[in-house]
Amino acid sequence: MKTRPFGQLGFDVSAFGMGCMRLPILDGDNRKINEPEAIAMIRHAIDSGVTYIDTAYVYHGGQSEVVLGKALKDGYREKVKIATKLPLWEGNVNEETFERILNESLERLGVDSIDFYLLHSMNAERFRTAKEAGVLEWLDRKVAEGKIKYPSFSFHDDNAAFHEILDAYDWKMCQVQMNILDTENQAQLEGIRYAGSKGIPVVIMEPLRGGALAGAAPANVQAIYDAFPVRRSPIEWAFRFLYDMPEIAVILSGVSTMEQLDDNLRIFDQAEIGAMSDAEHKLMEEIITAYKSRVRIGCTGCRYCMPCPFGVGIPDIFGASDRASMFDRPEMFEKDYARIAKDGHGADKCVACGACAKVCPQKISIPQLMAEFAEKMK
Ligand code: SF4
Ligand code: SF4
Repeated sequence: MKTRPFGQLGFDVSAFGMGCMRLPILDGDNRKINEPEAIAMIRHAIDSGVTYIDTAYVYHGGQSEVVLGKALKDGYREKVKIATKLPLWEGNVNEETFERILNESLERLGVDSIDFYLLHSMNAERFRTAKEAGVLEWLDRKVAEGKIKYPSFSFHDDNAAFHEILDAYDWKMCQVQMNILDTENQAQLEGIRYAGSKGIPVVIMEPLRGGALAGAAPANVQAIYDAFPVRRSPIEWAFRFLYDMPEIAVILSGVSTMEQLDDNLRIFDQAEIGAMSDAEHKLMEEIITAYKSRVRIGCTGCRYCMPCPFGVGIPDIFGASDRASMFDRPEMFEKDYARIAKDGHGADKCVACGACAKVCPQKISIPQLMAEFAEKMK
């Protein structure tokens, strides 16, 4: 297992961080973790050199922290850094709630101190609300009390919001979504480089885009991989693209089986900064272009068209459709659309008033497409 310095904090970590958000479960119930299997996997990861484990107060309905706590007994706690997260949507956004949740996390994990304590899933609005509620001063006090070591945040918003949050406090780490298809989304590659320029290490989540990059690649993408002289799986290329970057300290992977874990351990044995040759960088550019060429609608998710006065979930429907075409997985769209329609935001709600199309910067023919979706998904 390759390690790398965790920014300027004075210790090294494994480039592969085990994520505990998709642990093996029983009876298809996300709250029922298969404890013996999950504990065996966590300990196998640590025995194989993994030194960074990520969880959150809300993962597996709170059971992820509990199971991780059990796995970290018998001397395993001392071998790893642990990260967990404070959700700012579980109760009122005030100090009393922060305190209650932190104490619950400490108890579930069975530890006196948490290494990385993240404000979970920050966006501009959520961060401003938390800041007004005094969360930054509260973090300082928890560090002074020794309950947490490194205040951090995880992030889902745009590049401008990332800069705003990153510049607002003396963060010790930030966790962002990045993969070969999100280089210009969310924090963006620019945001990762900016964090690096400030000496703030970056932890990566969603390296496989929610698992979409783990399945078989579409034919046009696979053909490009096949033409390259070095053979690697799409998963391995996706990880390699990330561990190449010096600003990235850890790449999280939420494994669900021992087999997936062993494959990740194998891949991360090669996880050197600067591992990619010029030819490999060029290959990844071609792969990204090939994936993007599959996008049919091209909605950027800017939401200028929202809210639709009739409740149509315009960017959600288009996003689901584009994701499915990008990965050549029509079943993905069916699943996502069923959820959107169930929530009352289906294309069948569209009355073709045309208000959305007038403001769409991408000039998408929204009413026509909604009519097509409504017909197709009847
Ligand atoms: S055209 Fe359809 S989707 Fe667009 S605003 Fe009108 S009802 Fe909503
Ligand atoms: S305005 Fe156009 S690009 Fe923006 S979210 Fe709506 S449909 Fe997508």
